[in-house]
Amino acid sequence: MLDLWFTEKWSENTKFSIKVKEHLYSEETPFQKIDFFTSDEYGRFFTLDGMVMITEKDEFIYHEMITHVPMCTNLNIKKVLVIGGGDGGTVRELTRYNSIEKIDMVEIDERVVRLSQKYLPFTSDKLEDERVTLIFDDGLKFVEECESEAYDLILVDSTDPISVGEGLFTTEFYKNCFRVLKEDGILVNQHESPYYERYANEMKKAHEKIKNIFPIAKVYQFHQPTYASGHWLFGFASKKYDPTLDCNESAWNTLGLETNYYNTDIQRAAFALPNYVKKQLEK
Ligand code: SAM
Repeated sequence: MLDLWFTEKWSENTKFSIKVKEHLYSEETPFQKIDFFTSDEYGRFFTLDGMVMITEKDEFIYHEMITHVPMCTNLNIKKVLVIGGGDGGTVRELTRYNSIEKIDMVEIDERVVRLSQKYLPFTSDKLEDERVTLIFDDGLKFVEECESEAYDLILVDSTDPISVGEGLFTTEFYKNCFRVLKEDGILVNQHESPYYERYANEMKKAHEKIKNIFPIAKVYQFHQPTYASGHWLFGFASKKYDPTLDCNESAWNTLGLETNYYNTDIQRAAFALPNYVKKQLEK
């Protein structure tokens, strides 16, 4: 029997493939095509419009790094807005903090959430936490209509800046995030990658916009095997706190949170970027 492979184009000249055990489910929603697979190498994984979103084997990296870096920077964070994040992994990590009182998750496509609850229990199992409110709407519209100074932290766990995700990489969106954050608020956003040209261009554009709006605008890196090149970034923008100076490693360690990628050595080290990345961001 012929092997079945899932393949994603990382550039015009590079493809990434995962040998598929079973193609579990496929659905075309009004927003995107959703597919769920099983594989020997990565366990269960799902794709949106043919691009890997998360896999069972490496989702912990992304979801720990989007959450614990801002939380170690300000452990007084109480009200969090997650934009996107349909698989639930970011919310799962947030619910581990007893200090967080309210988590609003604004996801444009309810089908991503409902199907993740069915096929990805390991990421979606905390979406029913009593602190979590699911709002099925466009994140761009939500922040536009949201009251000012409503949140301590905004995590933009979005797809790439194409199709429905495009609006989440605009100056208008970042300006509204700034307004919706409290006076010591933090914004962390999915910030693409420095390696392949398509992603590097989006990285540069996003950083240029954010650094013109927030007084502190940094970028941190992590290794994400199933994203293009494996070298992936988050943006860290803040009205007040520097993630490498104001972080409280000892207080974070006292929480005793078990993690498999993030640790407080990485808190500062993740912001130490290679020269080729720094040069691109400084251009
Ligand atoms: N970790 C993944 C990555 O880095 O590509 C993204 C995780 S999550 C699946 C991305 C979510 O963003 C999707 O569920 C998608 O529906 C949602 N999304 C895209 N554009 C959106 C928008 N404008 N407003 C709200 N959610 C959006």
